[in-house]
Amino acid sequence: MESFESERAPLPRNMIENSMFEEEPDVVDLAKESPSYPIDSDDVVYEPRSSRLLVRGLGENDMDEEEEDYESSARLLGMSFMNRSSNQRSASSSYTRQQPSGSCSMPSAKKTVAGILVLIIVASIAMVIYFLPRCTFSKDGCHKANSSMERIYPVASNGELFPWTDLRLPNSVRPVQYELWLFPNLTTMTFQGNVNITMVVMQGTKKIVLHSSDMKILKATFQGKEVKILEYKPWQQIAIKFSEELKKGQQYVLNILYTASLSNSYDGFYNSSYIDTTGKRRVLAATQFEPLAARKAFPCFDEPAFKASFLIKIKREAEYISLSNMHKTKTTNLPDGFFEDEFEKSMNMSTYLVAFIVANFSCLSANVSNTLVSVYAVPDKKDQVHYALKTATELLQFYNTFFEIKYPLSKLDLVGIPDFLAGAMENWGLITFRETTLLVGNHSSPIDKQLVTSVIAHELAHQWFGNLVTMRWWNDLWLNEGFATYMQYMSIETKYPELDIDNEFLNVRFRAMAKDSLNSSHPVSSKVTTPEQVEEMFDSVSYEKGASILLMLNATLSEKAFQKGVIEYLRNYRGGNTENEDLWSSLSQVAGRSINVSQMMNTWTVQKGFPLVTVNKIGKQVKLTQEHFLLNADNATNHSNLWHIPLTYVNDTCSNSSSCKQVFLFKDKVATLEVSDSVKWLKFNYKNEGFYIVDYGENGWKDLINALNANVSVLSHEDRASLINNIFALSRLGKVSFRQVLNLFAYLHNETETAPLTEALTQLNHILRLLEKRSDLLLVSRMAVYITEHFGDLMDSQSWGEETSVSKQALRSALLETACSLNRPNCTEQAKSLFDQWIASNKTKVIPGDLLRAVLSVAAQSEDGWTELLDTYKHSIYDSEKRKTLEALASTQNVRKIVWILKAALEGSEIQTPELPLVISTVCRHFAGHLYAWDFVKENWDKLTQKFPIGSFPLQSIIMSTTSQFSTKMHLEEVEQFFGSLKDRGSQMRSIQEATETIKLNMRWMDRNLATLRTWL
Ligand SMILES: [Zn+2]
Repeated sequence: MESFESERAPLPRNMIENSMFEEEPDVVDLAKESPSYPIDSDDVVYEPRSSRLLVRGLGENDMDEEEEDYESSARLLGMSFMNRSSNQRSASSSYTRQQPSGSCSMPSAKKTVAGILVLIIVASIAMVIYFLPRCTFSKDGCHKANSSMERIYPVASNGELFPWTDLRLPNSVRPVQYELWLFPNLTTMTFQGNVNITMVVMQGTKKIVLHSSDMKILKATFQGKEVKILEYKPWQQIAIKFSEELKKGQQYVLNILYTASLSNSYDGFYNSSYIDTTGKRRVLAATQFEPLAARKAFPCFDEPAFKASFLIKIKREAEYISLSNMHKTKTTNLPDGFFEDEFEKSMNMSTYLVAFIVANFSCLSANVSNTLVSVYAVPDKKDQVHYALKTATELLQFYNTFFEIKYPLSKLDLVGIPDFLAGAMENWGLITFRETTLLVGNHSSPIDKQLVTSVIAHELAHQWFGNLVTMRWWNDLWLNEGFATYMQYMSIETKYPELDIDNEFLNVRFRAMAKDSLNSSHPVSSKVTTPEQVEEMFDSVSYEKGASILLMLNATLSEKAFQKGVIEYLRNYRGGNTENEDLWSSLSQVAGRSINVSQMMNTWTVQKGFPLVTVNKIGKQVKLTQEHFLLNADNATNHSNLWHIPLTYVNDTCSNSSSCKQVFLFKDKVATLEVSDSVKWLKFNYKNEGFYIVDYGENGWKDLINALNANVSVLSHEDRASLINNIFALSRLGKVSFRQVLNLFAYLHNETETAPLTEALTQLNHILRLLEKRSDLLLVSRMAVYITEHFGDLMDSQSWGEETSVSKQALRSALLETACSLNRPNCTEQAKSLFDQWIASNKTKVIPGDLLRAVLSVAAQSEDGWTELLDTYKHSIYDSEKRKTLEALASTQNVRKIVWILKAALEGSEIQTPELPLVISTVCRHFAGHLYAWDFVKENWDKLTQKFPIGSFPLQSIIMSTTSQFSTKMHLEEVEQFFGSLKDRGSQMRSIQEATETIKLNMRWMDRNLATLRTWL
């Protein structure tokens, strides 16, 4: 999946185990329960924990090499049960067994005692009968029977025992093929489904467990005979129990007939709608399954490792077309007036990559190396697909050559979906996009094209990384997302150098380091079990840090070797599933003996955070030390982390070309380098290709600052941006004073390049916003003066006409947006004038796309301007224009309008709900709306979590936008109190830890630096 700018991938709502633990317990003491349900030998026993080992010894056969994965949730369940049971037992004696309904007369005391005695005797006999045969024949013999042993099975929705006790599915049965028939009704917004699942038995078992959610099962047959389906809703699982064992190696067919509603959220098989240019509401049905929502569209084994082939048929009305992963092979005109489309059998693939769409779309196609590439959009926007088609065909050819494996399907569709939450989704052969990330109109700027190209490059890379080779489980999501993100930048840099994507990738690395410097971060490869944990993996660490460490490895191995290793990896594992180590072993084969890829890269993927390298140069000797760069070091859990750092450096004699770069593999806590006597200064982390921060010590910084003051171009622009980024980070950590930061800034008078200037501006704007939110008006105005002193000339010298260089556009928009937000007259007057000309031309005069946000945001501050813009938002068919208009609307300082826009985006009536995270983050940037947005989030929390699942990226973004600018104790307490009160409604989210940690850091920064700011500004 691809994020959408700051609003990353949306994830489906899933079962909430936490809430399950609060419910009436689903616990049955089998010792008391009549054993009317056949229990397989692979049943799991909990409490005491050791009893699980006992069962394994007794010939459990569903537990295989992946049992360790299952253990964590088993532990979770077991532990939660134990905690809960001890609490509840003391609170309520009726806890362990639920009374059958109807038997509610109160028994007398005597009867009760007698009853209990009888029960104890029956229970004892049952236990003896139950355990004797199993332990008698086990190789471990009979362990001491534990009288307190209890088996914990969930209770299925029909009241029977559900025969599985884990969030992960058993491995005893694997799907081979799904034949899926679907009939969506776009009037009633429901659909009918019929699925035949052919499966093979891997280990003899008496049950089949798979996923299903939110559907009504009408009938199920197994090998043609009707069977009973048991459902355990909290885990979205269904099961069938058999009296006879299913034999290893045999294939069986399960058929399920069902109905369901088209989802109203943005996952599963969902309904989407839009207003066309005639004002009519149009509807369509589309899918979004990653990570856990295929189960909402059809019963399936919904884990990435259960790959199978798919044969899909869709029945539809005449006015729509249907699309799926594969080519359509046949359309039948049915007697009832409907049509039925049949699609080619797919390759083996994971369920989260299945997709289908029923809609009225137009398309444009082209043929590339025997693959038919088509771009689909709603009819009103059919003229906006040309750029995407050209880009997709070129990039497909590029990847075909680069990976040396041809894209394996005969078609590739790219579809712009109105009302889509993620940036895009890489469904195999049927990639879905937000319209903004696919469509390019006449008014789109080069920066808009850069975005569209990036998203297409990302999704196309997934056709190999993710689709052809898939991570085994979501803990290694980075193998999909880190790689696709890395390939997106690499391919664009090679294929479209004019898009200046390297600046964007540098920003991505800075952003990833900022996230990863917090205690709330996590290792790139992290163990995940619950749906919320899976959702939370779609974050900056998986995408951006993942891509950053691949860049570092590429720079270390050389481009050629890296490419060879990647090809090796794809060849070795095509069609299969992989883990971290599989990638490293492929890359090790090309790395030569000098470097142990696996050892080196594990230090970057299995521990969180990254290193701070401190340099102390005394004469020829350069002493290096490494430590964990952790902003909130007070709570550090482990100070002894070490990384294998492929340290690079240049010096004053040769500093501005890759041939100057020297490399040193820094593996220990301390090391010493020797350099020539004549070396005046050193710059480490050449072009910031490594994922670490460097502190040069007071003298080292002074030397670098002097060198830059003498000649800016002594270092590459990436190195200059890297120095600015690092010194700010070090000031946050308290390693350098803010005075030193300002010393470095003195050189900016001579800076002209985009990367260092935008990095400096970003950092200063961040401080300005924090001061603004503290209502420290004096310091705010002094900071504004400081910014205009340093950037004013550049701001005033920017042109307001068309600009073709992406890099210059990026700089211009950053400078002018800041200038106008600081009410710099040169800026606001120009903006007003452009807006007036635009209105006078009936919105036909083109405002350069990169200036649109600055211009419209100035206009949105007046009543008339805001009304005009709202009208533009409603009627524009150009999505990039529409989105910038929305940002302008949300930048209003008028409280009444702020309240309206927040509400409208939440309701999704006049403003589409996927834009809510953008609306909130824009509102929060400004003083007027900041606290309103925070109140809005608190008041509407339940509605927000209905729209955006707990843990999902939109929710992560909303939490951080509303809280990350607080820097007072009062706000910290308020944030802690609110999120603490949520309990199972999201209080465990990692982004909440991130929020409180960020506020504490802001408080600390203010304590340390307010005095300096007052003196120096
Ligand atoms: Zn992706």
